[in-house]
Amino acid sequence: MEKYFMAIDAGTTSSRCILFNESGEVKSVSQREIRQIFPRPGYVEQDPTDIWSTQVGCCVEAMSKLGITWRDIISIGVSNQRETTILWDKNTGEPVYNAIVWQCRRTADYCDELKRQGHAQMIKEKTGLVPDAYFSATKIKWILDNVPGARKKAESGDILFGTVDCYLVWKLTGGRVHKTEKSNASRTMLYNIKELKWDDEILELLDIPRAILPEVGTSAGDFGYSDKSYMGGEIPITGVLGDQQASLFGQNCFQKGDCKNTYGTGAFLLMNTGDTPVYSDHGLVTTIAWGLEDRVDYALEGSIFVAGSAIQWLRDELRIIDTSEDSEYMASKVEDTNDCYVVPAFTGLGAPYWDQYARGAIVGITRGVNKYHIIRATLESMAYLSRDVIEVMEKDLNDKLHILKVDGGASNNNLLMQFQADILGVDVIRPNLTETTALGAALISALGKGYYKNLEEIKQADIKEVSFKPNMSDEIRMEKIERWRKAVTYSLSWAKK
Ligand code: ADP
Repeated sequence: MEKYFMAIDAGTTSSRCILFNESGEVKSVSQREIRQIFPRPGYVEQDPTDIWSTQVGCCVEAMSKLGITWRDIISIGVSNQRETTILWDKNTGEPVYNAIVWQCRRTADYCDELKRQGHAQMIKEKTGLVPDAYFSATKIKWILDNVPGARKKAESGDILFGTVDCYLVWKLTGGRVHKTEKSNASRTMLYNIKELKWDDEILELLDIPRAILPEVGTSAGDFGYSDKSYMGGEIPITGVLGDQQASLFGQNCFQKGDCKNTYGTGAFLLMNTGDTPVYSDHGLVTTIAWGLEDRVDYALEGSIFVAGSAIQWLRDELRIIDTSEDSEYMASKVEDTNDCYVVPAFTGLGAPYWDQYARGAIVGITRGVNKYHIIRATLESMAYLSRDVIEVMEKDLNDKLHILKVDGGASNNNLLMQFQADILGVDVIRPNLTETTALGAALISALGKGYYKNLEEIKQADIKEVSFKPNMSDEIRMEKIERWRKAVTYSLSWAKK
């Protein structure tokens, strides 16, 4: 009888469950949307009970699609949207407030205040992060300060905090286990990534009671058993990772210098920096990739706000393509962009430019530039923006990228992937299986269950992939990069009045 690993992929827009067989093949998928709540401009929330019910529904459905029972499942692994913050009543399980989603900007002013008070350096040294509303810490503080009675209950030990992984584990285990792991903890801005513990100084600064915090375990290990009321029996939960770290793990980026890029709505680049944290001089964040029994791996992370969403812009606003997939065929109708550049700085630019006032620009338009050139230039912009981040990662790490592993929706675009290889001058490798985040969750649980003994064993598992080899002279590459840099200068500071 075939056995399966259950991957819980608790994303931002949907809950998913994927069952992998022992060869790492996807055998069953179930997915449900999560309702997004926007109470005010800049505020983003979700209902925790919706996160939970859609997730457990997916687990049951994925099993029933295959006609299997809990006995056929070796272990459960969790990957999750990171930073999203949930506080709930320990006795009743009732959420204290909606989940405050990572995108929510409600605490931006308070983060500026922390910077003005001169705490940024201390926070960066301890947590690897720049004070920002994105991370959990100020979201927790907001709930405690704004929900009547919450702080008092928190101080008396009746309230628990968790990121989405931790909340799901608590629910799945019937309230028996309140535990997270190091990759998720490192995104809260409360966890000291060098000393590997919750940081008292920051907790005091933000006035967050320690009693609400979960235990922080290794990423592969014991997170209890799912309560038998959900899937008919007790299944061991043996691995948890934040989604981007899960994709890094699923891509087998186990060595220093290994790097992956996920081309989704935005793009997320993570580079493994080995067993010591590397602090960026270019505004990248330092994060824990995973914590295992015998080692903790760190990563540098850079995100690009607009990636696949630039293709959606071509589709929905310019209406020059019908589907995202069409962008490849349309771009291939021309040989190059005719020296036209699109800078999709719709919401500003991140690393290495850090200009929140930058806005999109199309430059180099001549009478001969047509829509195919613009489509091609938009696709190429994703590769240039990724290269910009990789360039600063290389500087921070003082090492060269050897290959780039890729995943996410837009990585299916062959033209984009070839251009990425060309403009980086390194091989770009795309696994045939694009569910790398869920695979990462399954693999970390396989490691936690003892199915694999170590990372070497995982690496040897045969993953089929496609590679794109650079095919551009250094001269042309340098010339294009120079043109791109010049194009970017036209987009900078645009929204500054
Ligand atoms: P997310 O997880 O952020 O929702 P996905 O990984 O599902 O994103 O990727 C979806 C994004 O990728 C969309 O923005 C879409 O426009 C883009 N995309 C999907 N397929 C292609 C393609 N073949 N070429 C270019 N962009 C694509």
